Amino acid sequence: MGGNLDQDGRLLLFKSSPEVVERLMKISPEIMIIPAHAWTPWFSVFGSKSGFDSVEECYQDQTKHIHALETGLSSDPTMNWRLSSLDKFCLVSNSDSHSAWPWRLGREFNAFELDEITYSEIVDAIKKKDKKRFLFTGEVNPAYGKYHWTGHRNCMVQMSPKQALDVNNICPKCGKKLTVGVEQRVEELADRPEGFVPKDAIPFKTLIPLSELIKAYLGIKTLYSQTIWKEYNRLIESFGNEFNILLDVSREELEKVADRNLAELIMLNREGKIKINPGYDGVYGEPILDEKSQEVKRIKNSEQKQLLEFSGL
Ligand SMILES: [Zn+2]
Ligand SMILES: [Zn+2]
Repeated sequence: MGGNLDQDGRLLLFKSSPEVVERLMKISPEIMIIPAHAWTPWFSVFGSKSGFDSVEECYQDQTKHIHALETGLSSDPTMNWRLSSLDKFCLVSNSDSHSAWPWRLGREFNAFELDEITYSEIVDAIKKKDKKRFLFTGEVNPAYGKYHWTGHRNCMVQMSPKQALDVNNICPKCGKKLTVGVEQRVEELADRPEGFVPKDAIPFKTLIPLSELIKAYLGIKTLYSQTIWKEYNRLIESFGNEFNILLDVSREELEKVADRNLAELIMLNREGKIKINPGYDGVYGEPILDEKSQEVKRIKNSEQKQLLEFSGL
């Protein structure tokens, strides 16, 4: 099968989707095929740029071998639940981490409780949507995803589905076609109103990564900053791992190690209450802090400035 391994960490196969499934099933029927980031505009089953309107249209007679879909960063289960045609699939959440940056790992995850941690146990729990073994998925707020809203990156134009439809998906700045985001694409294909929950749905938790919380708390613009990772590693040293910090450690314990305001952000994140300015056309969404946290940010910024002045930088 012709292909290319040299594309941004992704394997490209020059074959149709049903043909790929058929060939993989011949190698072993135990192979699990999960269409990844199912809604992303490019390279996805429902993508606005190159996708189909149903799983069946894409995989044809091979759909019988597809048991799960990966929701991608820009969509969460509630959005997928709006399509009755997806009820038969189990929804999983992975990080789609194919860049060289380790902090992109674990942004989304699947939580299992298994007697034995084996490939076949995991696959079986997914295939059967077994809530006893497949406990929940961890999802970023879908607005954090790079393709949640519609827009045009070069022109910094960012639009909700309604705004985009009002301008016929044409960029008001340059006249080119906008990249239709995931929320709008779900809206196009949905046959149910918002808020519908299927009976056998696997629960989920909404969380953004700890590094993003520290970045917002420190008021730093990029995740590449050493200052963020110093604070991150300090917390990891105290509490073992990121999921423990995000999900379990009490406020009291957090405040022994972290500043009160950062502890507050971690608690708000746990309740899914961090607001996000939506991502669009390849630009990540950004956490928006409320006024109280903005104040913290200002203080931090002036402290940093003083520090820089002090060190002569
Ligand atoms: Zn997801
Ligand atoms: Zn434009």
